[in-house]
Amino acid sequence: MSRVLVVGSGAGGATVARELAATHQVTVLEAGGPFEPFGWNLDRLASVRATGLFFDPGLIRWLFPAMRVRELHDATGSGAVVLVNGACLGGTTTISAGNALRCDEGLRALGMDLEAEFAEVAREIPITTEHVARWNSTTRRLATAAEALGFQPRPLPKLGDYSRCRRCGRCVLGCPNGAKWDARRFLDDAVARGATVETGWTVERLVFSGGRATGVRGRRGLRRVSRAADVIVLAAGGAATPAILERSGIACEPRLFVDPVLCVAARLEGAGLDREISMPWVIERDRYIVSPYMDWLSFFFDRRWRLPARDIVALMVKLADDDRGRVGARRIEKGLTADDRARLAEGVGLCSAILGHIGLPSRSHFLGTLNAGHPGGALPVTAGPEPFHDPRLPDNVWVADATLIPSALGRPPILTIAAMAKRVARTIAERFS
Ligand SMILES: Cc1cc2nc3c(=O)[nH]c(=O)nc-3n(C[C@H](O)[C@H](O)[C@H](O)COP(=O)(O)OP(=O)(O)OC[C@H]3O[C@@H](n4cnc5c(N)ncnc54)[C@H](O)[C@@H]3O)c2cc1C
Ligand code: SF4
Repeated sequence: MSRVLVVGSGAGGATVARELAATHQVTVLEAGGPFEPFGWNLDRLASVRATGLFFDPGLIRWLFPAMRVRELHDATGSGAVVLVNGACLGGTTTISAGNALRCDEGLRALGMDLEAEFAEVAREIPITTEHVARWNSTTRRLATAAEALGFQPRPLPKLGDYSRCRRCGRCVLGCPNGAKWDARRFLDDAVARGATVETGWTVERLVFSGGRATGVRGRRGLRRVSRAADVIVLAAGGAATPAILERSGIACEPRLFVDPVLCVAARLEGAGLDREISMPWVIERDRYIVSPYMDWLSFFFDRRWRLPARDIVALMVKLADDDRGRVGARRIEKGLTADDRARLAEGVGLCSAILGHIGLPSRSHFLGTLNAGHPGGALPVTAGPEPFHDPRLPDNVWVADATLIPSALGRPPILTIAAMAKRVARTIAERFS
């Protein structure tokens, strides 16, 4: 039975581990620890915003160890996008908004048919729009305004069982009520089928012998550690997997998208988006989406957001950005292009129109912090004979995360990553018994 190491336990890693656990000797190496939802009382924390305690978003990890936040700049050191990701069992899925959209147009354009994999995912993860019945009045008002303006909003399908949702508004801080699905469910299945999961294991590079990868090397706490394997699946996410490859002497493509997010907000007494599910409905435009979103990052770290949370109404623009950027062994470069900025401005205009329509004039609108949570694209699927195995990789090394996505989606990637990871797992199972 081949020994398979899966590096990372997020959307891609948990899926591969679950698929291979019954037939292979699977070990998942995860840099983070067990996930705990953010437990602090948000109203109480908000009252200390003015003290300057929240001066650097990077410090969020001390309050919420599962979340990592860092500032990215372009090659000249200017521009700033705050990159957010999960560092825990379940990866970034634990802090997702639970959105479930199938986004495989780019893959289909390359001739890739993942119909069977998407159908399997849909059988294994409950997907629902039943939250519509519980929307609060602000969510409905915004949707009605968007409709009146001809923007065609539609309810966003969600991953999970929303009959358990208590509308606490903390989706992106981890669901305390078990309503929202995250990849820990797939990890639990993998363990039930025989996989082993090790936390606190930061993989730094691959180890080679005779042109073949024989394992990985990294850190566990203060210890230097290594582990042998017959097959290695890198699923550390779109920012970490390319860095591991670069440190192993395998250069990825000098490209990176992140799906930047910018919120347009205004004061609306008793809006209550802080007690609403994240992103209840969506407007889909050419390479961007718009959705209601209580942006907790801006709320805590952006001076313009120093209002009571219940009185903020906000709409996000999420962009499919140009893949101008690069993940190096130690540094990530990312900036927005002129085209990105133009589409972002168009999205901001659309949000302003909706807020204006509910009686909030544009002079009262304020923006949030430019942030992003969907890094990917550095080793994309191609139309070649081996679409899911780049020729730069040794035969026994595979990638199964957002790194494979061919171009920015500007929309939620979890379903698409899970479908791709299933295909990767299937191919590994065919080749390595
Ligand atoms: C705030 C927010 C909201 C989001 N909402 C949605 C949504 O509603 N719907 C949706 O589809 N997508 C959403 N996303 C995006 C989605 O969660 C990610 O795109 C997806 O989880 C990426 O999957 P992945 O497998 O590539 O990486 P991840 O899920 O990030 O998993 C990577 C894992 O690898 C681990 N790791 C990293 N480096 C190492 C290393 N060196 N060694 C070992 N382990 C390592 C990490 O700790 C992590 O657990 C959201 C993202 C954010 C930030
Ligand atoms: S709003 Fe609902 S889905 Fe979101 S965290 Fe709260 S209970 Fe979970």
